[in-house]
Amino acid sequence: MTIKRRVGAHVGGGLSSAIDNTILIGGNCLQIFAGSPRMWARSLWAVDIAKKFTELAIKNDLNPVYIHALYLTNLASDNEELVEKSIAALVMDMRNSAAISGAGVVLHIGSHQGRGWQDSRTLVIESIRKVLDSTPNNSYLLLENSAGQKGKIGSLTELADILNSINSPRLKVCLDTAHAFEAGYNFTTNQGLELWLKEIESTIGFEKIELLHLNDSKTPLGSGRDNHQNIGDGYIGSEGVKRLINHPKLAHLPLILEVPGIEGMGPDKENIDRVKQLLF
Ligand SMILES: [Zn+2]
Ligand SMILES: [Zn+2]
Repeated sequence: MTIKRRVGAHVGGGLSSAIDNTILIGGNCLQIFAGSPRMWARSLWAVDIAKKFTELAIKNDLNPVYIHALYLTNLASDNEELVEKSIAALVMDMRNSAAISGAGVVLHIGSHQGRGWQDSRTLVIESIRKVLDSTPNNSYLLLENSAGQKGKIGSLTELADILNSINSPRLKVCLDTAHAFEAGYNFTTNQGLELWLKEIESTIGFEKIELLHLNDSKTPLGSGRDNHQNIGDGYIGSEGVKRLINHPKLAHLPLILEVPGIEGMGPDKENIDRVKQLLF
């Protein structure tokens, strides 16, 4: 039996519209925010609303469901209050994820603001431990790779350091293809993709990868600048995307798009269709 590949997108509209918006663009998995991504305020979804969402997701065969953490979090800040607020917001996202039987909360770890990984790793690791220790066992935290921006934590070796230090089955990884390309992994060639896979194997390991954020890149290889582009329209291009999503080591992973959309209104049917056409 072949399992249907999971292709979906980050959809807006909150919990109430997420299912409809996913069906509208032809997705079969999804990612949402559990509150405004640019505001700290977080609250728990009402039990009946979370239950209704979960039932509808199952009924429509939409899974997995991911939550993206808010953009304000920084677990490596030297501002203690900011770290505490980040932990509190993440705990809420994790509890909401458990409430909808979600597959995990995707996190941009944050920036060490020039202090370097060695000087910030203890704080980051302690913060993540706190989040895991105070959240349900059926909630998962997915660390996302960074685009190689100065100070931003999320190289493969940094992710591996965190994973190895914490060693929890509830801590996994989400790899963003645009970020990896912007950090210098060249998916336009076979060798470039193989190099990335080899580094994954020797750092985080394939079994830790839960999800691919599938985005093309608006900035060139190794730019160190995070800017997503529609599938096939960026520097990775259709051939690069095709090579990547069909690679035997990655072909089982769900694909979540976070592209601008043809009309600039976010991931759309056109982008999902492009991915479907590139799948073997
Ligand atoms: Zn992403
Ligand atoms: Zn990004």
